[in-house]
Amino acid sequence: MSKQSKRGVRAPVPEKSAAFFGEFWNRRLVNLAADLVVVPAVRLLRGSEGARQTLNGLAGEQLCFHEDRLVPQLGRVGTYGFVILPGGCAWALEEHEGCTFCPFQRAVDRYVGNLPLDAAEFLRLFGASFQTIRDRVTMLNVFTAGSFFNAGEIPEETQRGIAKAVAAQDNIRILRVESRLEYIEETAVAPVIAALGGKTLDVVIGFETQDDQLRRMLRKGMSKRGLEEKITLLKRLGARVSIYLMIKPHHVVTEGWGIEEAEASIRFAFAAGADEIQLQATYIVNADPDGTKGDKNLMYEWHRDRGFEPPSLWSIAEILRDTAPLGPVMLGAWETEIPPPMRSPSDRNCPVCRAELLARIGRWRTTLDPAAFAPETLPSCACRTAWERETADRSRPPDSRMA
Ligand code: SF4
Ligand SMILES: [Zn+2]
Repeated sequence: MSKQSKRGVRAPVPEKSAAFFGEFWNRRLVNLAADLVVVPAVRLLRGSEGARQTLNGLAGEQLCFHEDRLVPQLGRVGTYGFVILPGGCAWALEEHEGCTFCPFQRAVDRYVGNLPLDAAEFLRLFGASFQTIRDRVTMLNVFTAGSFFNAGEIPEETQRGIAKAVAAQDNIRILRVESRLEYIEETAVAPVIAALGGKTLDVVIGFETQDDQLRRMLRKGMSKRGLEEKITLLKRLGARVSIYLMIKPHHVVTEGWGIEEAEASIRFAFAAGADEIQLQATYIVNADPDGTKGDKNLMYEWHRDRGFEPPSLWSIAEILRDTAPLGPVMLGAWETEIPPPMRSPSDRNCPVCRAELLARIGRWRTTLDPAAFAPETLPSCACRTAWERETADRSRPPDSRMA
């Protein structure tokens, strides 16, 4: 695979005959037919939701879906739509091999292979999904498994085409995209904001942790100063900024330090100007149980070989309660992940408290009200006592372990 090409990530789309590139044209024609024929026809017969289910069924993947959730910018629950585009991640394709916890590029490779998508095919893929959810969503997340603003991953024409489609849909208020810092430039972001015609652009940056050494261990390749500069730029251009952070992103993070570290990261991100935090508790997935897909998954290996565990629901409750006054901290769901986690925070708690804490987390997700975790109202149980003992030591591991 070429490291540097016109598109930045993969070789340019081949200008060869259809017969020679049969595989390429087969995929392209399927995407064209989905957008122009199949989805509109099913939509007429079975409505948008029927068309969405048909499209996902034909693709064998959740290409688009929606759920109701709190939209902090609007201060109310809205319908949140997801459209997935296989843009891929230059960071994962080049020498860095990507961040340690991230499986996205392998999923993109399986779909795209060595046959790249051009701007028109990306727009067809987007169009097929978008027409099944556009009438109902308040906020649209276009997830590209990489950086929306890297023209080598998502061509500029596609970026603007998506923004224009959102601008034309009255009910959609916010477009959310993700990007690494190096692609957040005025020349890339300003045209998308202009095409959105007054709607909000929300840019999510995966920063994961404020601890410089820990972030290096995750192979993030980002500095605090770099993040601060790009947040300043985005705010000047009129965008909203959300930051991804993780609780216990690496096996060296103990349960006790994991709480301190996540809280310090949330404080740092808000102080740097973030409008919202997307907090993700780690969980263990074995996406390749028979070892045939080549999906190496460090979280799974750490769990299997080192006894690494996701954070307890008790830790999550404490972090959310402590940082509630700082701003909106949205907790990512592990319960609905595909494939389902083999070990998640829910598994860290005992039957006495598990359902109660999950219900309180559900309340938090729709209200951001720290009363959901008021200490005097929390249940007492054996796992709470064990967790208090485990987290009595909140110290950072010595530098000798941080390697
Ligand atoms: S987390 Fe983001 S930057 Fe890191 S490999 Fe995954 S998509 Fe790329
Ligand atoms: Zn318990």
